[in-house]
Amino acid sequence: MEEDIAKVLISREELSRRVAELGAEITHDYEGKSVLALGILKGSVLFMADLIREIKLPLAYDFMALSSYGASTQSSGVVRILKDLDRSVEDVHILIIEDIVDTGLTLKYLKENLTARNPLSVKVVTLLDKATRRQVDVFPDYNGFTIPDEFVVGYGLDFNEGYRNLPYVGVLKQETYEVN
Ligand code: 5GP
Repeated sequence: MEEDIAKVLISREELSRRVAELGAEITHDYEGKSVLALGILKGSVLFMADLIREIKLPLAYDFMALSSYGASTQSSGVVRILKDLDRSVEDVHILIIEDIVDTGLTLKYLKENLTARNPLSVKVVTLLDKATRRQVDVFPDYNGFTIPDEFVVGYGLDFNEGYRNLPYVGVLKQETYEVN
């Protein structure tokens, strides 16, 4: 597995330090409120597990699953809800937890979809932001790291369901995912 990684982009220590900072910032901004942490399956799971333990507020969590790249590394632009929330989100502060914002198509769809359900607020925290790839006008409220346009895996992010358990974020060697 590790032999497929071209380089470590964000180390375990850097992840842990930044996640603690994000948690403190969110705790401060939402003072006096309770939060619904909404993890987007499956990539955000490791980030979410670490982040919510750094958020010192009353907090519930739930998950949604959206259609993603599948076996390819290119966005199709088509978003489908594969798993929806378990409950109504009226009168709830929703904090969407994403692994990575790339074109922004997924996030734009999701924010519009959730806003239509009349929550008190909808904000987004993403671990990674490939800001140069953005195709639509949507921005995370909290961002762990802005990264270059390279395909990354680890700390929850996959390629073909693999590599999610790497404790760091790394760049996959191109020959691993390029079809010849
Ligand atoms: P967007 O709709 O912003 O283009 O795509 C967001 C989704 O694309 C992410 O939640 C993630 O599933 C996938 N994605 C985008 N870039 C990468 C990447 O570099 N590595 C991995 N593993 N997934 C990515």
